Amino acid sequence: MQETRKGMLLVISGPSGTGKGTLVERLLQDDPSFEFSVSCTTRKCRTNEIPDVHYHFIDDEHYDKLLAEDAFLEHATVHGHRYGTLKSEVYEKMEQGKNVVLDIDPQGARTVMSKDPSCVSIFVLPPSYSELRKRLHTRNTEDEEEISKRLFNARGEVQQMHLYQYLLVNDELTVSMNLLKQIVQAEKLKSCRYFPIIGE
Ligand code: ADP
Ligand code: 5GP
Repeated sequence: MQETRKGMLLVISGPSGTGKGTLVERLLQDDPSFEFSVSCTTRKCRTNEIPDVHYHFIDDEHYDKLLAEDAFLEHATVHGHRYGTLKSEVYEKMEQGKNVVLDIDPQGARTVMSKDPSCVSIFVLPPSYSELRKRLHTRNTEDEEEISKRLFNARGEVQQMHLYQYLLVNDELTVSMNLLKQIVQAEKLKSCRYFPIIGE
């Protein structure tokens, strides 16, 4: 049997420290049909991050230039830093038939949902705010002030969860990963993006 598939745009949001990056990394490892949209950001590179793999780390001047060139599909200021999804990261990959995953905040997700209503959207929740605090401390990539800011902003982000098609409470990682795979499997079979050609 022959088949063609249209690429899926998968939007994942959730409070900082909830486990989005961990889930996305595993999805990319397990499913080669997915590619990550590497965002631009003006925040500093963490010691565990690789430039142009996790983010394109750029300065304000470069960011302003990209804004002026209308290079962003969406952009937002999050926790005091600027972040943007490049159109080129998304469209070029989708044209090659790839599924593309975006790890972006609810402001950016709203823009993407309105520009591409066929996108798949998932909001990842922590099991509790105390667990979220614990995960941010365990990750050990932000100082106390930055962690407090992210925990404060988490409440506002969680209020927007019903904008999303799917909600995933990331308690036990293996369970969450299986749920994510089930969402992806079902979405891949939707008739808007799956075109099997049945032989005689
Ligand atoms: P985000 O990308 O949402 O900011 P990360 O993926 O960086 O979050 O995860 C934050 C921390 O929580 C990391 O140290 C990660 O290993 C850990 N973590 C992720 N998922 C779980 C989980 N289900 N249970 C416990 N710890 C987790
Ligand atoms: P972090 O600094 O922890 O990597 O990310 C902070 C927040 O910025 C997270 O909510 C993440 O989803 C969001 N983010 C990362 N890249 C983008 C982007 O390109 N656009 C938007 N709107 N948010 C982003």
